[in-house]
Amino acid sequence: MRRATFLVGIVLLALLPLDSQQNPSSFVILNAQLADGTGLALRNANVRVSDGRIAQIGDLRPGRDERSIDAHGLVLAPGFIDIHNHSEAGLLSDPLAETQIAQGITTLIVGADGDSPWPIPPWVRSVQQLHPAVNFGVFVGHATVREQVMHKDFKRAATPAEIAQMQQLVDQAANQQILGLSSGLEYEVGSYSNTDELVALAKVAALHDGIYMTHIRDEADKSFEALNEEITIAERAHIGVEHSHIKLGTVGVQGRAADYIKIIEDARKRGVDFLADCYPYDAWHSNLKVLVPDKQYENPKSVAKALADVGGASHVTLTQFKPNTSYAGHTIADLAKSAHISDVDMFIRLVQEGDAANTEAIIIGQSMVESDIKLFYQQPWVMVASDGGIDSDHPRGAGTFPRVLGVYVREKHWLTLPQAIRKMTSLPAQRLGWKDRGILREGAWADLVLFNPETVIDRSTYTSPATLPIGIEKVFVNGLLVWDNGKPTSARPGLFLGQHGKPMPLND
Ligand SMILES: [Zn+2]
Repeated sequence: MRRATFLVGIVLLALLPLDSQQNPSSFVILNAQLADGTGLALRNANVRVSDGRIAQIGDLRPGRDERSIDAHGLVLAPGFIDIHNHSEAGLLSDPLAETQIAQGITTLIVGADGDSPWPIPPWVRSVQQLHPAVNFGVFVGHATVREQVMHKDFKRAATPAEIAQMQQLVDQAANQQILGLSSGLEYEVGSYSNTDELVALAKVAALHDGIYMTHIRDEADKSFEALNEEITIAERAHIGVEHSHIKLGTVGVQGRAADYIKIIEDARKRGVDFLADCYPYDAWHSNLKVLVPDKQYENPKSVAKALADVGGASHVTLTQFKPNTSYAGHTIADLAKSAHISDVDMFIRLVQEGDAANTEAIIIGQSMVESDIKLFYQQPWVMVASDGGIDSDHPRGAGTFPRVLGVYVREKHWLTLPQAIRKMTSLPAQRLGWKDRGILREGAWADLVLFNPETVIDRSTYTSPATLPIGIEKVFVNGLLVWDNGKPTSARPGLFLGQHGKPMPLND
């Protein structure tokens, strides 16, 4: 008798969902306003989630014993898809991905700017084994395959034989469920490639329904030439493009967003499948030396040009300088003034002191203008992406999505809330060719964000880049609650998403 009861108990346990207390297989979200991801106006509806999917949307009531969440005053949106995220290492060191889920990110895509893990399958498997809180997908990097083929001898155009080898590697990666090819043509390895090489590789990605995602060759004075090359690649390879972090980053091109947009609009009218993403900050964050592209750090002429390009020494703020910590928080212009020397001399002094102390000076370069960012954000083909990720040292890593909702929607009225949500959900899903994420629709995956539109805001700064935002109340990944009222729940239901957004199992 006792034995029989025991057996019944075991059978019942087996029938229950794994974590039945926190995650009953079915629950209802009541009284939320829905931003469904399409850009349509907010509407009131209740939503039932069952077995990881959105089961029902409408005027429905919870069943007896069915859990419900009262979301009065909150907006319910699809989970945010971050198409440009640098969490390759972060997913391994911090699979809970707190800075990401705290923003409402439910899927992040890595392998941007030409750099990806290699080989890709072992990396994917390692992340899967750690069970991340977020879904993830990956691009194959152009620089990554270029280095596989050319090794250290990459400072030249590739030969036809080398290009053929790179094509094979892209094809191999495509068969491993990567989402497309990424490039970073401003960086060391990618910068030596020519247009033909990129077309040849993009053609392979196109054969697998992949896209071409690119950090173009120049985001400064030659931004327009670089944009034209990107469009040429899209047309010759017949591939959809994702223009990474669209910006005009020097004084020479600042304020010309309308001209830039015109070129893109013309290409779109010709049928080029062109989308872009933009991070919501007017400054980049890097080391002092990146300011001087010709690497003549102590040449007064080069330094003067470099400072002028970002709008002067008052646009460059030190955030870290180990030899003299009192410099932090001051612009180069301020420091020069206190030292009674020129801006150029101050820059050179910083380089010398930094080099002598064998330490890097970290700066914020404020070189984008708000009017350009605004115009870019207002284009229906521009989406939100962070260019950040777990452990980012730029505030975009923990602040991007709440910042757009709090600053660009609520404070500045650049966008309506439904427009902004579309840029975080269905637009990136469309770019990736995914039909059942990034949208609130019956049958779609239940990646969901509940946030307070009155309070949502970023709080990360250049000196405190990991400070979490507020106003993101609950986040669900594949129907499971991962973020609740300011804290992670410790649930980690993230899946590896392959082509067409298909969840790929962990193959041992
Ligand atoms: Zn980039």
